[in-house]
Amino acid sequence: MINDLWYKNAVIYCLSVATYMDSNGDGVGDFAGLMRRLDYLHGLGVTAIWLMPFQASPGRDDGYDISDYYNVDPRYGTLGDFVEFTHAAKQRGIRVIIDLVVNHTSNQHRWFKEARRDPTSQYRDWYVWSKKKPRNSRQGVVFPGVQKSTWSYDTVARAWYFHRFYDFQPDLNTASPHVQAEILKIMGFWIQLGVSGFRMDAVPFVIATKGPRAAQAPVEQYGMLRLMREFLQWRQGDAIILAEANVLPNTDMEYFGNDGDRMHMMFNFQVNQNLFYALAASDGRPLEQALEATRPRPKTAQWGTFLRNHDELDLGRLTRQQRETVFEAFGPDPAMQLYGRGIRRRLAPMLAGDRRRIELAYSLMFTLPGTPVLRYGDELGMGDDLALPERTCSRTPMQWSTEPNAGFTKSRKPVVPIVSGGPFGYEHVNAAQQRREPQSLLNWTERIIRMRKEVPEVGWGDFEIIQTRDTAVLALRYDWRNNSVLFVHNLAATPREISLSVGIAGEAGRLLVNLLSDDHSQARPGGKHSLLLEGYAYRWYRVGGLDYLLKRSDIDTEPAAAASKRVKIASRARSRGRPGGSAP
Ligand code: MG
Repeated sequence: MINDLWYKNAVIYCLSVATYMDSNGDGVGDFAGLMRRLDYLHGLGVTAIWLMPFQASPGRDDGYDISDYYNVDPRYGTLGDFVEFTHAAKQRGIRVIIDLVVNHTSNQHRWFKEARRDPTSQYRDWYVWSKKKPRNSRQGVVFPGVQKSTWSYDTVARAWYFHRFYDFQPDLNTASPHVQAEILKIMGFWIQLGVSGFRMDAVPFVIATKGPRAAQAPVEQYGMLRLMREFLQWRQGDAIILAEANVLPNTDMEYFGNDGDRMHMMFNFQVNQNLFYALAASDGRPLEQALEATRPRPKTAQWGTFLRNHDELDLGRLTRQQRETVFEAFGPDPAMQLYGRGIRRRLAPMLAGDRRRIELAYSLMFTLPGTPVLRYGDELGMGDDLALPERTCSRTPMQWSTEPNAGFTKSRKPVVPIVSGGPFGYEHVNAAQQRREPQSLLNWTERIIRMRKEVPEVGWGDFEIIQTRDTAVLALRYDWRNNSVLFVHNLAATPREISLSVGIAGEAGRLLVNLLSDDHSQARPGGKHSLLLEGYAYRWYRVGGLDYLLKRSDIDTEPAAAASKRVKIASRARSRGRPGGSAP
């Protein structure tokens, strides 16, 4: 029952409750506001919402500093509002996954307060202490330039405590069985309130050994991932964990588990960084290498494919030269860069608001191996505010309309300033206007999501990179259950004329049905296709001329039956003397 593995072909939309929609006029987004926007999300076609942290928090790191795992921050509503929200989402067929931030707590968490006050407290061992100042206290910071050390002295505890992130985020001692049991309890709690899983924050740090000696060379305890998976599967069979783990491809299988018994999903950082290089350099070769390097994964596992997220675009895995190329193209000003490794801008300004390039980038995101993860506002081409510090610049409120404060709040003081003025200000970029404009980016996104849902091959199939002899053109074919689709992308600004062989023998490979227009392709004698691609063009083809809607209904039938139907329809199309299939 493969359809049960919903995450293999989901469309995930990430948002922060705080900056999405404010219903009570206090300037802060809330669950009641988000609920009013569920039909917007439903209309867009997203199948899952990923909520950034909304639990009680002093809010010093945008909620990634939690002070109570079992409560909604009162600014966003109550637990009751949360359950109303998950229920309303479920009624629209939208799943909800939430951030699971358990590498550290806020220093305002009751556990940490008791731990520092009383050495005999049961919570003392929930954190990571050192009597003496560890020699490596300045190593391993996550936010270089802002964060100075990974150990700080606590005057109450009279000891040093470990914090991989900011000093107000003490690391939990995740090796402790008590802490592990608590993490499971947190998961079980939210599962019970209607969520379908978790986006797990900072996974490599969660499972690493911690302490004054371990910090030199932390060792990942992968067994913990299986423990969580097992627990989740027992509690709710279709719940998933989507891991944030920016790791090298050779450890991917450690996170997925060879038997698919650890993480269900991981963000594909390797592909993400090389994708931005491909867009910057009009060179698809390193991206192809990244796709090959991240090919191995268990059948039930899935990648999360993304463009921008709420953090900086981390380019740490590229070579220095590649990184320089991306900086130069998308973030040349030091104010656009962050932590010496990335770019903090949103997608649209990085691409200079060029609609062709934005569509190209999105088309790639929707067709690279994995499940697409969108970020709120990118469907409108929202911009950023570089006057805001660090990563806050691209965490500004959703731009709903031309009303004051973009229709996000009635308050005069929104929680984060609205982007106004200039090409990306809410006066020009907002949902209300784009809803009315048939050719808007919003409506384009809705259409491309609809089509993405009709090519389940991307989520389920095996991919093959098709040679085009042009480094600026990336061509990928997916095969699944006797169906094939082909995606061709021109990374360059200039038109390209390419010749390719689909790689499928017989009649099927001779016909490419364009899924986005009626510009189909019939192979030349000899079997090759000649394609003329405009600058930044993207093409979605179904191979073989079989009406894809009919194919869609074949999904749960025997592959053999689908194959015989395919032959019949293909011959019918031939007898009509024109390409089969129709574009939407
Ligand atoms: Mg509010």
